Amino acid sequence: MNPENSRAKEIDSMDISKLIPDFFARKLWANTGLKSGWEGLTLKLRAHHLLCIHGFRGLGYTSAFVDTLRRTIQIIKANENLLIELTNECDILCFACPHKLGNKCVKDGFSCEKKVRELDGEVLSCLGLKPGSTISVKALLPLIQRKIDEKDLERMCGGCEWFDLGYCREGLTRGLLQ
Ligand code: SF4
Ligand code: SF4
Repeated sequence: MNPENSRAKEIDSMDISKLIPDFFARKLWANTGLKSGWEGLTLKLRAHHLLCIHGFRGLGYTSAFVDTLRRTIQIIKANENLLIELTNECDILCFACPHKLGNKCVKDGFSCEKKVRELDGEVLSCLGLKPGSTISVKALLPLIQRKIDEKDLERMCGGCEWFDLGYCREGLTRGLLQ
């Protein structure tokens, strides 16, 4: 079995909630408490994943990855006082992704993590934030709308395999809550 398929199989049988560092957030995730209770808790997200969540239409690398992405989006949409810590390192979505090896993204080879970090950095710079910045959902979503437009998305994401589907562009134009 190739290593990617074996990683996908491993993830599909994993309890993703065990990978969430915050104890209370982990409990909520495990109990599928997606609609409330997240106020004041922090979820760590790779900065460029802010764009990816706008473009989500149920597609992804494995069923565990899609489920994790869907849950993350549900939590963000339902909890405006949730705090998001923006990072340029692997996050909960990476933990559920078959392309993570150790603590790095290896989707396009061993140098991929560097490129992904640069992308995270570009998104942070568009938003005027730094790695480690923490911001509430209710402040973050309008900030994304104000600071990142279609041209930025094309410049940053033009090489991504999902870009040509147009979902990320549509999602960004529409906004996550629409
Ligand atoms: S084009 Fe790719 S990297 Fe960019 S937002 Fe969409 S899925 Fe994410
Ligand atoms: S490991 Fe790479 S491809 Fe997978 S979610 Fe993280 S950044 Fe995206």
